[in-house]
Amino acid sequence: MDRQPLDLFIIGGGINGCGIARDAAGRGLSVALAEKGDLGGATSSASTKLFHGGLRYLEFFEFGLVKSALKEREILLKAMPHISWPMRFVLPYSADMRFDAETQTSRLLSWIMPWMKGRRPAWLIRLGLFMYDHLGGRKILPATQTLDLRVGPEGAPLQDRFEMGYEYLIVGSKIRFW
Ligand SMILES: Cc1cc2nc3c(=O)[nH]c(=O)nc-3n(C[C@H](O)[C@H](O)[C@H](O)COP(=O)(O)OP(=O)(O)OC[C@H]3O[C@@H](n4cnc5c(N)ncnc54)[C@H](O)[C@@H]3O)c2cc1C
Repeated sequence: MDRQPLDLFIIGGGINGCGIARDAAGRGLSVALAEKGDLGGATSSASTKLFHGGLRYLEFFEFGLVKSALKEREILLKAMPHISWPMRFVLPYSADMRFDAETQTSRLLSWIMPWMKGRRPAWLIRLGLFMYDHLGGRKILPATQTLDLRVGPEGAPLQDRFEMGYEYLIVGSKIRFW
């Protein structure tokens, strides 16, 4: 039996453990991984397999987290173009939509614009998407676009109050363990 010390011993074979093992092995380190059940058998088996970049964390002012998630998304898209692809998302907007009251953005807005009562001005959503477009040094995916939902197929199944929306791209993947 080989008794050489390892560079890295990883406990847990979910996407994080396996991803770290792959990355470390790719850098020439000797790696072992212990999994108590099955590889990818826990939380990772339930994932929708999107490299989303963490748009919703902007609500919590987690700018560093979103920046690193967006950078990682570009890296993954380049590293595995055969099993990842851009996916178009349309975010409908209506001025009367209400958002989670427990986020940092909600707290700040209730202080400076108390009359909004959980709603978001369109410019704020656009600002969030602008940051999402630029925080991670995006090179591959196109930037967010504003859509007129009164025309075109995107708005057809929606209520009339959704007159505009935003189109942005995230990345879907075929990463599977089974
Ligand atoms: C419904 C759903 C959808 C999601 N969609 C997305 C998405 O689209 N995009 C995205 O980025 N994230 C998504 N997530 C989040 C993502 O799935 C998790 O963040 C990720 O799977 C966590 O991976 P992990 O390796 O940290 O944990 P896990 O997958 O839980 O792996 C931990 C592993 O460690 C093992 N383990 C624990 N203790 C020990 C021990 N003592 N010894 C040996 N092994 C041990 C467990 O058996 C398990 O296999 C989603 C989550 C859910 C629930």
